[in-house]
Amino acid sequence: MDNWNKLSNSLLEKNHIKIPIEKRFFLSFIEDDETNINKNKILEEITNNGFLENDPRLSQFRNNLKILVKTNSINYEEFKYCIDNHICILKKIFQKDLIIPQFKIFTDKITEIYNDTLKYNEGKCADYIPQLARVNPEQYGISICTIDGQRFNIGDTDVDFTIQSCCKPINYGIALEELGEIEVHKYVGREPSGQSFNELLLNKEGKPHNPLINSGAIMTTSLIKKELNISERFEYIIDIWTKLAGNLYKIGFNNPVYLSEKNTADRNFALTYFMNEINDDKKIGFPKNTNLNETLELYFQCCSIETGTEVLSIIASTLANGGINPFTGERIFTSKTVQNILSMMLMCGMYDYSGEYAFKIGIPSKSGVAGAIMIVIPNVMGIVTWSPKLDEIGNSYRGVEFCKKFGELFNFHIFDNIEDNKKINPLTDSYNDINMNMFSELCLSAQEGDLEHLKMLFNKDIDFNQSDYDGRTALHLAVCEGHINIINFLLKIVRMNPNQKDRWNRSPHDEAKLLNNDNILKLFI
Ligand code: GLU
Repeated sequence: MDNWNKLSNSLLEKNHIKIPIEKRFFLSFIEDDETNINKNKILEEITNNGFLENDPRLSQFRNNLKILVKTNSINYEEFKYCIDNHICILKKIFQKDLIIPQFKIFTDKITEIYNDTLKYNEGKCADYIPQLARVNPEQYGISICTIDGQRFNIGDTDVDFTIQSCCKPINYGIALEELGEIEVHKYVGREPSGQSFNELLLNKEGKPHNPLINSGAIMTTSLIKKELNISERFEYIIDIWTKLAGNLYKIGFNNPVYLSEKNTADRNFALTYFMNEINDDKKIGFPKNTNLNETLELYFQCCSIETGTEVLSIIASTLANGGINPFTGERIFTSKTVQNILSMMLMCGMYDYSGEYAFKIGIPSKSGVAGAIMIVIPNVMGIVTWSPKLDEIGNSYRGVEFCKKFGELFNFHIFDNIEDNKKINPLTDSYNDINMNMFSELCLSAQEGDLEHLKMLFNKDIDFNQSDYDGRTALHLAVCEGHINIINFLLKIVRMNPNQKDRWNRSPHDEAKLLNNDNILKLFI
């Protein structure tokens, strides 16, 4: 009895009925005649789908693999032990039940755009404070995190920078959670201002135009946990940032930037006192008993929160996921709060380029003067680009170029689906793109020699012995096309019946005999 037969006797049940999911997963990793599977191949599969080393959902699994399995080879009992308690997440991965099913193909395209946009070297770093002026201007990083927690990083993704204006949508969200939409919008409007982000200007009702310009951001900051002292208020905000980032990282703070912000803040002071001048009854002003200095300090502190693209992309993914962090499953914002945040970002997130950006790219985004752009594709993913050189409007030069190319390539513009366009849709793979049912997928992948897809279907517990109206099975098709690896998989792992006749009374085995190929024929013995 060869190795494989021994294994199949112990693992597979008679008549191919209901193989437990752990067995399917294990079998889908079997290679050649081995009885054990390769540990690195499992890890590779997980990584290729965007599940990184520090993903808390798989840390126990990775640990189990490391501790229990000293060599690279792992048997079924060990595998079963390791995946215990992780079936849900591994099921998503091995069955490709992921928002971006072909993650590697998608991120290869992102890499291309990254490399392509590296050449844009125009613009200059913000220089209103020395700390921003001194940053190495050549740096460029992009991080992605999907709502399933699939992640990708390229370039300078581990360099920290201050978030600056990217704090504005988050502070707006925090205020909404605490006070509700009606109360918050008593103090701040929700229209684009049509003016610069720090313009000394209020709307007709005497409120700042929206929460994403400086006056509006100072106003929403003033609303957060008013009853607490300033240290506790900042702690409260940082705590929410930490939760938005899935408790995976410590959120930093840049004290020199904070001190500089505070020292060069004439305009922000002016905006604050302007809003506070309530003797003109056209102005709403701040809520009663607002301490203006503390409000400004808290606002500067929020702008000086320091982190990198990786963390910010997780935060963006929490927004993309309707307020629930993909790693912890914790709801931080209600979906209504997120809807409000994203509406603002879509209308006013990119300074004086917001209208053009909404028109061309059509994805809620927020940029900051340190060079970050936080991009939220609702129900799909968060993306953060960071490159410190800014264009004349104040957006990261490379970041905007990235967004333009990204928007041209993928159909993520909010109105893309009503347009007949030729853009790539990363939410589908080549099979469900053309609306195939599972059986058609099975036939097509057997015919095309797509072993990876067949393994995925096997993991999904598809009935492989189905045939079409001519009685042809996936095995017939694989034999016809001479795909040795597919025939091997269908016979030895799936255990398809080699003698099932089609309507011309031919079995896959009969057809193999006609091929005159010893290597294929051997598989039938
Ligand atoms: N700290 C800056 C300010 O309030 C933020 C600028 C920005 O990123 O737009 O002026």
